[in-house]
Amino acid sequence: MLNINDQRLLNDLDELARIGSTGDGGVSRPALSPADVEGRAWFKRQIEAAGLEFHQDGTGNLSGVLRCADPQAKTLILGSHLDSVPNGGRFDGALGVLSALEVVRTLKEAGTELPFHVEALSFTDEEGSVLGLMGSQAMAGLLTADDLARPRGGLDALEAGMARIDVDENSILNAQRDPQTLAGYIEVHIEQGTRLEEAGIDIGVVTAMVGIRSFNVQFLGEAAHAGTMPMLKRRDALWGGSDYILRAKRHVMDDYTPGVVNFGQINAKPGAFNIVPAQVDLALEFRHGTDEEMDAMQRDLLAMAATVAQEHGLSVRTSPLDTLQPAPMDATMMAAIETAADALGLSHTRLLSFAGHDAQIMSRITPSVLYFVPSVKGISHNPAEYTAPEDCINGANVMLHAVLALASG
Ligand SMILES: [Zn+2]
Repeated sequence: MLNINDQRLLNDLDELARIGSTGDGGVSRPALSPADVEGRAWFKRQIEAAGLEFHQDGTGNLSGVLRCADPQAKTLILGSHLDSVPNGGRFDGALGVLSALEVVRTLKEAGTELPFHVEALSFTDEEGSVLGLMGSQAMAGLLTADDLARPRGGLDALEAGMARIDVDENSILNAQRDPQTLAGYIEVHIEQGTRLEEAGIDIGVVTAMVGIRSFNVQFLGEAAHAGTMPMLKRRDALWGGSDYILRAKRHVMDDYTPGVVNFGQINAKPGAFNIVPAQVDLALEFRHGTDEEMDAMQRDLLAMAATVAQEHGLSVRTSPLDTLQPAPMDATMMAAIETAADALGLSHTRLLSFAGHDAQIMSRITPSVLYFVPSVKGISHNPAEYTAPEDCINGANVMLHAVLALASG
């Protein structure tokens, strides 16, 4: 049975972790920073040393390509990201890119005949130091001149960064890949949670990256003297808001697990010790795996706000803010991951991803799958992030055998 070269994968993980090392096991390689540029140069050297075709596209995505015999064949992309958050861990993103590289090297050495080209790819700025999911969004044709004019890291950071990696606004806006040329996308990532570790399961096949909806929920009551107004006569907007938060939590846990709800901000007005709050604004956000579940959660949560308002003698206004659609993974690609795990004798389960990844963007243009390997204690975006060597090796071997499963149709 064909397997990756374990030691070579682990050596790559160690070598890459020296670039931008924080000295305590972590790495700081924010996208387009000098450390990221160094990491990118290292990746290019590995691709060339392996005798693969090196490419940098218009948005700075880097890849090593193994061509099959048919020049007209489509390309299967294996990827993730080499950039990190400031003071991040050494596995987030890096494991996916280095697994992809190791799989492509293994296929090349074995001389395996494939019906598609295979490309090990690192996306630019997944973490959003400058512009979140920049590389995958540009590849999917989703970035606009407007996005580039208002990057979240600031225009100066984007311009300095683009110069460092030899891209410009025009090349980024023209980095789109034709979906007709793609055979699919596979990404392995550390879980960044504890579900696999707690269940003692090797591989988590993601069914969807959750959708996210956010609302402002405003309860309106009446300001009053905090001493003289009798308790039973108060129309306290914050009592209503507090009751709502706890009821929403219970309802989502009872009826929508594994969906989640969050209230990230409470703003009470007038906002003084001695005034009964007249107005409360709550930042409501909820996440789930399908549009149907998101619609049902929204219906319940907004109806509950109206009920709570009525019970507290308040009025309520809800206004929608942002919406991110759930990104379902492709059934055939998911089956390939499960077939591979079975062939390797690894246990697997299906789960949702509550964090964003390049796979959610790639799923818009090509059949995509994301799968997880365990993260110790779920620690991530932290130098203490850790995934055991055997789990890293398992992840890469699953990718190799998923490619073979897709190749044999
Ligand atoms: Zn990541």
